[in-house]
Amino acid sequence: GTPVNAPASTVEELTTQRDRAQQDHAALVARGLKLDLTRGKPSPRQLDLADDLVDLQGPLTSAAGTDLRNYGGLQGLPELRAIFSDELQVPVEQLLAAGNSSLELMHDALVFAQLGTLPGGQRRWVDEPEIAFLCPVPGYDRHFALCERFGIKMIQVPMTPDGPDMDVVERLVAEDPKVKGIWCVPKYSNPDGTVYSDETVRRLAAMPTAAPDFRIFWDNAYAVHHLTDEAAEIADLLALCAEHGNADRAFVFGSTSKITFAGGGVAFFGSSPANIEWWQAATAKRSIGPDKINQLRHVRFLRDAEGLREHMRKHAALIRPKFDAVDKILTAELDGTGLASWTKPAGGYFISLQVPEGCARAVVAKAKEAGIALTPAGATHPYGDDPTDSVIRIAPTFPDQAELEEAITGLTTCVRLVGTEKLLADRQS
Ligand code: PMP
Repeated sequence: GTPVNAPASTVEELTTQRDRAQQDHAALVARGLKLDLTRGKPSPRQLDLADDLVDLQGPLTSAAGTDLRNYGGLQGLPELRAIFSDELQVPVEQLLAAGNSSLELMHDALVFAQLGTLPGGQRRWVDEPEIAFLCPVPGYDRHFALCERFGIKMIQVPMTPDGPDMDVVERLVAEDPKVKGIWCVPKYSNPDGTVYSDETVRRLAAMPTAAPDFRIFWDNAYAVHHLTDEAAEIADLLALCAEHGNADRAFVFGSTSKITFAGGGVAFFGSSPANIEWWQAATAKRSIGPDKINQLRHVRFLRDAEGLREHMRKHAALIRPKFDAVDKILTAELDGTGLASWTKPAGGYFISLQVPEGCARAVVAKAKEAGIALTPAGATHPYGDDPTDSVIRIAPTFPDQAELEEAITGLTTCVRLVGTEKLLADRQS
């Protein structure tokens, strides 16, 4: 977003604005709302789009004639991997279809790297005195929770409109062998909707790293989740890594959680041939094969890459009015006040609202008083601590249109209240 500029209004004007915001907030609390903007979940209507998924017809065999009811097929159903190969930018042979959650695969990747030496590595990560991951901020709280869970130190890197600040990334990975990885959501990032530029992707693929087993955790969760007719395209990380002599650097993740059913979809893992072999040696001990019946459902339902794109256009038709409404209300209530700026993403699931420094927690608390639940301020940063206390993540997809509009209008009241109080305090100190 753009920086927040305080308007040049007098203390009297500010006081009037603050008093009005106080009255508005009291009226809001009195309404006793119960609204939830916390998590990026698809709405029931979005889930309805995929209801035919459960209506599985025809023989339960693969195109090659395998009986999918039985054990086996650790790589996942080839025809499903073929549907996602282009969009995830991973050759079919190097793309695995797994269970229902990509987060689970990211978790497993960390566990496998701790308990088994990675291709190119010298020892297991648990045998290192300390390891660290670069965390572009704002970012996805569940990535940070995984690092916290495994005692991986988190080093913040600021996001820019082109992705992580690559000058900082290149310096840190070059000088410090403790730095073993970086979290990336390269398309329509969570929470600010950023699409990595080609130059950012190239630099990630090409940069020298002190750690020989450095990995990019490329969480392409929103690869096909466009809000407009213009589908953002990113550079092909896997191919660029190979081109620059770093073939084993990228771990690619994706899933159908926000395509079909968030709780009943299929997740994907893609990487270099050496990494895939390493991965399968670990997963072969863990399972005799994934749920291929659910994968078959997805093949029958999506049909092919064009079927996937057509399905995503139906999602866009449902959620684009919600993103538009948020922007319209924020513009009407806050534009020109100097109290907030926000992102206008072309895809993904989130809008990032930036309030004056030191105000985000207070805004979330004021919203809670009024029955509006927001993602805790700070969740977009490691350890839940946003040092600027200025980022609020808005997840507009789940509530219905009327509830969403009510919640966002209420939120703007809280921003006006906390923001004018802050500006007044600044003036008086
Ligand atoms: N990665 C990102 C960036 C996400 O926003 C989400 C869901 N909010 C996930 C992963 C979770 O993916 P899955 O459902 O496949 O575990």
